[in-house]
Amino acid sequence: MAKIPRRADEKGPEGQAAVSTGRAIHPGKTIGVLGGGQLGRMLAQAANRLGYRVQIYEPQEDCPAGAAAYREVNAPYEDLAALTDFARECDVITFEFENVPAASLQAIESLALLRPHWNVLWTAQNRSREKRWLRDNKFPHAKFVEVAADGDVAAGIREAGVPCVVKTADFGYDGKGQLKVMGEADIPAAVRKFTGSPVVIEQFVDFACEVSAVVARSPSAAVRVFPVAENIHTNHILDFSIVPACVAPAVAAAAEKLARLIAEKINLVGVMGVEFFVTRSGEVLVNELAPRTHNSGHWTLDACMTSQFEQQVRAICGLPLGAVTLLSPVVMVNILGDAWAKGEPHWDALLAQPNVRLHLYGKAEPRPGRKMGHFTVTARDADMALELARKYQARLG
Ligand code: AMP
Repeated sequence: MAKIPRRADEKGPEGQAAVSTGRAIHPGKTIGVLGGGQLGRMLAQAANRLGYRVQIYEPQEDCPAGAAAYREVNAPYEDLAALTDFARECDVITFEFENVPAASLQAIESLALLRPHWNVLWTAQNRSREKRWLRDNKFPHAKFVEVAADGDVAAGIREAGVPCVVKTADFGYDGKGQLKVMGEADIPAAVRKFTGSPVVIEQFVDFACEVSAVVARSPSAAVRVFPVAENIHTNHILDFSIVPACVAPAVAAAAEKLARLIAEKINLVGVMGVEFFVTRSGEVLVNELAPRTHNSGHWTLDACMTSQFEQQVRAICGLPLGAVTLLSPVVMVNILGDAWAKGEPHWDALLAQPNVRLHLYGKAEPRPGRKMGHFTVTARDADMALELARKYQARLG
C-alpha cells in the first residue's frame, strides 16, 4: 500500500515527542470510529452526550455502534476509496477493533487526526510484535519464544519449556488461537494445530490472579490511569471484573505505574487496556496491550467519576482528561449469548435490583460466547458486590 506522508503537525510513531496539534476538537465536530462493536457503541453514546457527531465505519451492516451513531458506513477495511471518503468527513478518527489493518489506518492518516497513531495498533495487534516491544522496552512479561510459519513448533515448545501456552501471532482474542501445553503428551496436538502459522510460545504463568488497568493519555501528554480491576475469566472469556482489585496496594500501584509508563513509551493518544498476571510472589507481568477501551473497564460507566468511553473522547479530542475517582465498589459481569440457552434471559431479575445497571449492545443473534451485554453491581465492598453478582448472574438464564 502506498505510503502517504504524515500531516506536518502530527509526530510519528512510538518513542518520539508527544503528539500535539495545540488545538482541541470541540463538541460539534465529527469523530470517526473504525469498528462497529459494543466498544464503538458505548464510545458513540459518550460522544453524543458531549455533543459530538459520530460516524462508524464497519464492514457488517446494522452493527451495534451504528445504531448509536449519526452515520454508519459499511465497507471492507481494505476499500481505500470508501475509507478515504469516510476520513474526509471526520475531524478525528479512532478505532475500537484491534484487527483493523494498520495499513488502512496509515493510508488515511493525512486526511484526519488519527488517534492513537497507526503504529500503536500495529505493535499491539500482533503478539510477536507486542511481546518484542515489551522485551525491548524492558517491561516485565512472561518469557517467550517465536516460531515462524515454516518453523518447528515442537522445538519452540522445548525451548520455551513445558508448561507453556502456544498462541497464534495474529488475530488472537478471548483465548482464541491458543493452547496450553501442560506436559510432553500435549506437544503433538500443538504441533498439529499450529504448524504453518507464526506463533508465540509463552512460559505458563502460575498466576495468583489477573488484573488490568485502563490508561488514558492526551495529546498534551497528560496521563490518567483508572483504578485497577481484578478479572476472573471463564473459558478464556472475561466473566467478572472486580474493583477495587483484591491485591496488595503495592501490586495495584505497580500495575498502574506500568500502564502509565507503557502509555508514555508507546506515545499513546487515546486509551489503552493493559492486562497483567500477578504471580504468587507478587510480581506484576504484562500480558497484553489493547489500544482502545477494554471490557474490564466497563464498570467505569456506573461507578467512576468519568467513564472510559468519555475519557477516550476527551483524550482523542484533546480535552482535559476526566477524574478517575472510584465512586463505589463494583463488579461487572459479562452477559454472553449462552444466557439465551433457555430463551430470553430474565431481565426483570436484574432490573428489580436497585444496585444493578444493565447494558445491552443491541445484537440480534445470541451465539454462545458472544458478548451481548453486561451488568454492574455496586455494594458497600467488593466481596459483597461479587457475591451479589454471582447470585444475579445465576438468575439470568
Ligand atoms: P490472552 O488472549 O493472551 O489474554 O489469554 C487469555 C487468557 O489465557 C489469559 O487471560 C489467561 O487467563 C490465560 N493465559 C494466557 N497466557 C497465559 C500464560 N502465559 N500463562 C498462564 N495463563 C495464560
